Amino acid sequence: MPTIDLHTHSLVSDGTASPRDLVHAAAGAGLDVIALTDHDTTAGWAEAAASAEEAGIALVRGIEVSTRFRGAGVHLLVYLPDASEPALGDELARIVAGREDRVPAMLARLRELGIPATEDALAAVSGGNQVTGRPHVADLLVHLGVVAHRDEAFARYLSDGGPAFVDRYSADLLDMLARVEEARGVAVIAHPWGRGSAAVLDEPALGLLREAGLAGVEVDHLDHDAAQRAELRAIAGRLDLVVTGASDHHGTGKTGHDLACETTAPDQLDRILRRAADLGSPTALVGAVR
Ligand SMILES: [Zn+2]
Ligand SMILES: [Zn+2]
Repeated sequence: MPTIDLHTHSLVSDGTASPRDLVHAAAGAGLDVIALTDHDTTAGWAEAAASAEEAGIALVRGIEVSTRFRGAGVHLLVYLPDASEPALGDELARIVAGREDRVPAMLARLRELGIPATEDALAAVSGGNQVTGRPHVADLLVHLGVVAHRDEAFARYLSDGGPAFVDRYSADLLDMLARVEEARGVAVIAHPWGRGSAAVLDEPALGLLREAGLAGVEVDHLDHDAAQRAELRAIAGRLDLVVTGASDHHGTGKTGHDLACETTAPDQLDRILRRAADLGSPTALVGAVR
């Protein structure tokens, strides 16, 4: 039976490995299928696709989009969309621009707090990352010795309402679902009951989102405990939503999320592939599922 991990990040967003190294690490970890889902960008797709062929594993090209629903942040995994579709691409560009404006504002707040958080210091820490965001500011705080690790940086400075927190643009979830449909992609909510979105993503809300084009929910994620998984799985069954599982791997940027620590059942991947094909997406699976 193939081993499938449908949610990972490279250094194109906030992971620590290049797309090529990530794909090879996935093959080394025994995965047969990996999805690359960097935040709000498809910039890693080409390198990952070429590497999947080298490494002999299958690749699902995806994105993890930052959206907002009823006041809460919701991450939406979008699989196999037509990346050239402006309805999707224009909105991704707005999200990335919003995040880029936000970083200098957060650095300014930190400097007001007496922390030498300069743009140059951030550039030295974020290295090759094309999308900079809060995780890189967190890494900078670690680098400066202000905190011991990313989690402490978020808890003390960067989380919503924290002293260096700055709000930013994120897409409206319902609007994004419509754009995903136009781009013929398959939408799955990432860690729906992790990090504050549990309150808004109850069964009636998920039902409404399904009507708006949602295809599935990520159930097996480290943010969910056993009881949450059982309940989400039952809801997904009643709403006929695809159930996925994934590591949300960020390289060494996030501890505990090793590649393949959570996986997706092959029949659920089939549902995603079939849906993309039915929608006529030009973005196919790279390689074949062994
Ligand atoms: Zn996420
Ligand atoms: Zn993620």
